[in-house]
Amino acid sequence: MAITGQCLCGDLKYEIANEPAMTGVCHCKNCQRQAGSAFSTLAGVPKEDFTFTAGEPTLYADSDTNSGNTVERYFCGRCGSPIYSAIPGQPDTYFLKTGTMDDTSSFQPMFNVWCDTKQNWVKLDEGVPAMAKQS
Ligand SMILES: [Zn+2]
Ligand SMILES: [Zn+2]
Repeated sequence: MAITGQCLCGDLKYEIANEPAMTGVCHCKNCQRQAGSAFSTLAGVPKEDFTFTAGEPTLYADSDTNSGNTVERYFCGRCGSPIYSAIPGQPDTYFLKTGTMDDTSSFQPMFNVWCDTKQNWVKLDEGVPAMAKQS
């Protein structure tokens, strides 16, 4: 069954053909700033599975990152909701911000990354692998 989602204002709507195989939480400072929150919840989606059914995202090329890679952050130019990020090391994958999915009930993170910059109040699930940096 296709997964659907949208930004806050609804200008951007998307569809994903298959259930994402990889899910995680990123605690890097840049994700905190972009989300205006404690972390990003992410799902790795093959590019060919992802389609915008409405609208075109705006790109922010984020080059001031811990990894040194330029992260392409795509968001709604009207309401600001982040939709997905793309990194040069994995050109065939979009890292979807899973809070934008219509139904988040199946989301279950498989790992935590950049825990070095995790906010102090956040308690990690002991059953979920946590990496200080990327992997
Ligand atoms: Zn929007
Ligand atoms: Zn991050």
